Amino acid sequence: MATDRTAASTPRVLLITGASRGIGAATARLAAREGWDVAVNYGRQAAAAEAVADEVRALGRRAIAVQADVADEAQVLAMFARVHETLGPLGGLVNNAGIVAMKARVDEMDTARWQRMLAVNVLGSWICAREAVKAMSTRHGGAGGAIVNLSSVAATLGAPGMYVDYASAKGAIDAFTLGLAREVATEGVRVNAVRPGIIDTEIHAESGDAQRAFKSADVIPMRRPGTADEVAQAIVWLLSPAASYVTGEVLTVSGGR
Ligand code: NAP
Repeated sequence: MATDRTAASTPRVLLITGASRGIGAATARLAAREGWDVAVNYGRQAAAAEAVADEVRALGRRAIAVQADVADEAQVLAMFARVHETLGPLGGLVNNAGIVAMKARVDEMDTARWQRMLAVNVLGSWICAREAVKAMSTRHGGAGGAIVNLSSVAATLGAPGMYVDYASAKGAIDAFTLGLAREVATEGVRVNAVRPGIIDTEIHAESGDAQRAFKSADVIPMRRPGTADEVAQAIVWLLSPAASYVTGEVLTVSGGR
């Protein structure tokens, strides 16, 4: 019988980027309940990240809060080194850190905005995925693992008049997920994405409307925004041995949108 290298032998150490709040924090809590030790990455909110790490420890798992701007390669490399030194070999990565920007048309957006949009949402995920593959792939002496990238339903709709740049960045994440998954499929590493619809988190304030999630209920077949916990359920399942034959998949969690 074939051995599933992403199952029982995989180290239960998980790095979640952008886990100080929202979907990342919910994923940290749920992953801890499922037996993962968690590295809680954050950008600016140290106290919030420390509180999430405390919650993970209260659930009986090990945790560290680790600052790094995912768009900064040197900071990401230092973060991976610290996670390895403190928690041991990596078994999972959730590329969750992400930003939107103020609602605008393309002809109103400046290049500085696009550079930051791509640096955080695309380059940040690529750098972290590359380092995770180096840590987990059997080709590099690792014991296997799983990567989950955060896409968005925006990638399928284009987000006209809202943030086409963000939608395009998430489209890049979809292609990256498929390509990387096929590249490392024989190396014990599964790569999938979760594609949330409109989820009730603080991200919407960045687009200029903190109430956007609830105001958008009419365009959602289930007539309500999703919760961070509902997205976390999909992420943690994709990380788990229960998803051992799933790779290169983008799982939509959108209430039907
Ligand atoms: P959120 O509540 O705004 O939280 C974003 C998290 O990312 C925070 O922990 C933040 O940390 C961190 N972060 C931002 N920039 C970072 C950087 N450069 N380096 C490291 N960390 C950084 O967002 P969310 O709604 O949970 O979204 C999580 C992911 O799901 C994102 O990729 C987003 O695009 C995607 N998504 C969300 C929705 C939605 O409706 N909420 C829909 C589709 C997709 P600090 O606060 O500490 O800086």
